[in-house]
Amino acid sequence: MGTQKSIVLVTVDCLRADHVGFMGYRRPTTPFLDSLAKESFVFPTAIVAGAPTYYSFPAILGARYPLALGRDVLGLAPDEASLVSVLKQEGYATASFGAGNPYISAQFGYEQGFDSFSDFLDSEPAPLAEEQTAAVVPNGWASRLNHKLQAIRPALGPLGIVYDELYFRYCQRVTPVAGSLDALRRFPSADVIVDHACTWLASVGDKPFFLWLHLMDPHAPYYPKEEALRLLRDESITPARARYLNSYWNRSDLGPGRLAHHRDDVVALYDAGIRWADEQMGRLIASLRASKQWDDCIFALTADHGEEFLDHGGRFHPPSGLKEELIHVPLLLRVPGSVKKELSKAPFSLLHLAPTLLDAAQLRAPAEFQGHSAWDQVREGAGFDGVAISECVAGCTNPFRREGRVGSRVLSVRETRFKLVLQFDPPGEQLFDLEADPGEQAPLAPAAQKAVRRRLLEMAREHMRLSSEQRDQRMRLRARLRDLQLEWTRSSPQHS
Ligand SMILES: [Zn+2]
Repeated sequence: MGTQKSIVLVTVDCLRADHVGFMGYRRPTTPFLDSLAKESFVFPTAIVAGAPTYYSFPAILGARYPLALGRDVLGLAPDEASLVSVLKQEGYATASFGAGNPYISAQFGYEQGFDSFSDFLDSEPAPLAEEQTAAVVPNGWASRLNHKLQAIRPALGPLGIVYDELYFRYCQRVTPVAGSLDALRRFPSADVIVDHACTWLASVGDKPFFLWLHLMDPHAPYYPKEEALRLLRDESITPARARYLNSYWNRSDLGPGRLAHHRDDVVALYDAGIRWADEQMGRLIASLRASKQWDDCIFALTADHGEEFLDHGGRFHPPSGLKEELIHVPLLLRVPGSVKKELSKAPFSLLHLAPTLLDAAQLRAPAEFQGHSAWDQVREGAGFDGVAISECVAGCTNPFRREGRVGSRVLSVRETRFKLVLQFDPPGEQLFDLEADPGEQAPLAPAAQKAVRRRLLEMAREHMRLSSEQRDQRMRLRARLRDLQLEWTRSSPQHS
């Protein structure tokens, strides 16, 4: 006994690749993970298979494309093979602690295979607030005041700062005074999740284990721990100011130009969320080291998607254009007994993460997985096959409503240098040269790079063809039945 490796998988919601230190960020958001990166594999171009959360996790845990069972199916299907189901069968102790993200709850099949599953959702899962329309404005006098403010704003011209001040006062009046950032926070912070994880880890004994943690600290609304702000910068921020910034950032009546006034302050709050996740990873691993569980432990940290800060005029992480700020995430992989190698800059799709983790633990991946292990290439520092496909349904910001799920597909095919983005309604395609234009500011002219365009289009077409031809209809049916049952339970009156 003793040689079977345990696995810890940490997913941090909304964590962009370019905001962590080991990927070159200027601000010290991740000192602990940076030190761990020195003995870990760091994937320069890890790409999610879909964004946001509900289009990303079917690939992370189930190693399949998010729309493979049809656009209207979300989550893992009942009894679908996953990283967890394999490890459970192998006799692993399994647990998940997730910081209250409704899209990876039991309702969507994510509890399957876990001995212990805590999603910290105390009521019936509902959509996350900022993914609805930006609606912080209540009815009544306060709302009328805000409308008046909006009406006079154009007249203020360059005196917009006066308007900002009035809006600040407005925010103070419509929401009850909260004394601390802790009181404003919507999700359990990483220290709470790590506390639960440590308690569970102390109970597993000699068994190999699989632990999945999902952290929400960088997720909007951005209310980080005070301590994290102190760790990251000198000046503190009052709860009132943080609330104002979040309200401002959530406004639907302002364009990117005005929102940009407070962009840096909002990013500072977001970064502090990352800093706290990093701090708590340090605590988790110190605890694993102390118990000697770290000696045989594979550790992977990644994200389900990134976050927009006006890079292309947008905020948060709605399913839309699959831009790099949403699909490029960090991926750090520590495997005991292996020697760190520099990895290829070719994209590595998170579709391949689960089979790669199983392979690193010397376990076989199920035949149903669409992803394949890249452990040999990682271990030897060789290149990956180099194409990552990501997909989502445009405009589906509330997946609890089935009508929202059946919009048109958006697909991106990313190679090391080129990236093609396809929209279907209205039809359109954009080809980017990421070497010359890493910020995806200007798609190439239709006549440019014809051979590349043709090649990537062909890959997209093949992906679409396989997606419908190889669809597992029984799995799809099972998932649809689960949905119908939930809808029925919700709409029918309570029977005693
Ligand atoms: Zn997410």
